[in-house]
Formats: sequence, C-alpha cells, structure tokens
Amino acid sequence: MRDITLCHPRLQQLAAKWIQACAAQGIIVGIAETLRTVEEQEALYAQGRTKPGQIVTNARGTSYRSQHQWGIAFDFFLMMDVDGDGKTSDDSYNDSSGLFERAAAIAKSLGLAWGGDWSSIVDKPHLYLPDWGSTPTQLIQTYGTPEAFMRTWAPAVGWVRTGIGYWYRRTDGSYPANQWCVINHHWYLFNPDGYMCTGWHRWDGRVCDPADGTGDWYFLDNTLNGPLEGACWHTRDNGAQEIWEVDLADQI
Ligand SMILES: [Zn+2]
Repeated sequence: MRDITLCHPRLQQLAAKWIQACAAQGIIVGIAETLRTVEEQEALYAQGRTKPGQIVTNARGTSYRSQHQWGIAFDFFLMMDVDGDGKTSDDSYNDSSGLFERAAAIAKSLGLAWGGDWSSIVDKPHLYLPDWGSTPTQLIQTYGTPEAFMRTWAPAVGWVRTGIGYWYRRTDGSYPANQWCVINHHWYLFNPDGYMCTGWHRWDGRVCDPADGTGDWYFLDNTLNGPLEGACWHTRDNGAQEIWEVDLADQI
C-alpha cells in the first residue's frame, strides 16, 4: 500500500518533514510502499524463489519479519529528471548521481534510519524508525503481531485516524457510533461503525442515514488545504442552519 497515514504517527510526521527538507536541497522525492499486508509480503518473498524476478526480501509475510508489516518503514523514489531526457518517470530509481544517498543523509539527520546501510540486502529506497533496531525481532518479542503494536499508537483519549477515517476514543475505551455529539466544542456525526461522517448525510436524532431517508442534513467538508480543515452544518427545527468548524488541533 502507498498510504503513509497507515503508518506509525511519528513516521508520518518525519516523512513530511523529510520531503520538505529534501525539496529545500533540490531533491524531489515521493513515497512508494508503506504498510504491507501478510499477503503482499508473501508475494514479494516468492519473487526470485518460486516466482520470476530477483530476490528483494528475506522476510516471509507470515513471520512478520518485514518492517513494512509493522508500519514503521516506507520506500521512496525520485520524482526528478536525473538523466536529462525530459522525463521523470524513467528516473524513479536512477541513483547514478548519488541522490538516494543524499536523500538518506537528510532522513538520518531527522532521526530516520536507512536500508542502504544494511549488508544482507542493501535497500536504498527504504527508510524506517530506528527505535526497535534494524529488524522487527524486538517488535515481535514485545507485541507478537503488528495489530497489537498498532493498538499502542492511538492516544488514550481522542481522535484516531485509520485508513478508513476518523473515530474518537473516549476515556473508557468506547467510541461514539450512530451519534451526533460535541467534542471539544464542535459537533460531529458518527456513522453506525463509529467513523466520523464526511460529506452529506442525514440524521434523524437516533440513526445516521436512516433507511427512510429522513432527518436533518449534515455536512462536513474535509477538503484538505482549504481555508478550514472542515465545517459542519446542522439544520435546526426552525430551518436555521448552525455551523461549526472542525478544530485542526483535534487531528492526530
Ligand atoms: Zn522497504
């Protein structure tokens, strides 16, 4: 998968800083592989063994031995015309001018570690959080599975962002679902699965998006890079509309 928001929150922050720092030095990088499922890792392990291609990993999916399975690593590529032929697409992994090493040096200055420093398989596009060593051994011993590790990422209370959307963890560990409620002075509608609704929805006072289609209109604009992160509208009984803005500070 290519979604950095599925990775460890600190890796997300460092990746954003690193992309900016690289750009400041004229190196334009993109993020490729991020979190990897067991199936994806198994397919990669088969490459060069039971399937054509070169061996690219020593890690079986079922053994959780890839850092990608733990959400603490991502791979990058270049978005630059390295060979000067007017195209960038053929230079994603063109290391002829040492750009991977330079990008990695910037990453290391921010506290990331680099697969290019490995000896068994030198992995130049790979950057990772070094907190648990250069292999997942410590993570496996401490948490057993990536799922158990990922549960420790979420704050005790507050907004939790996943690949699906946002949900809100209360102090007792429960979460609002099928509910219209105030969090930090702002109103939100949560669907039956407990995810914050975005876009247009109906709310009849009990059920989000009731089957009979009745209820107030609800809208949350989650357009990124807009003047606001989002805004909510709730139509009152008298027809007036109440507007709430989504507080950026609520985001994780
Ligand atoms: Zn990698």
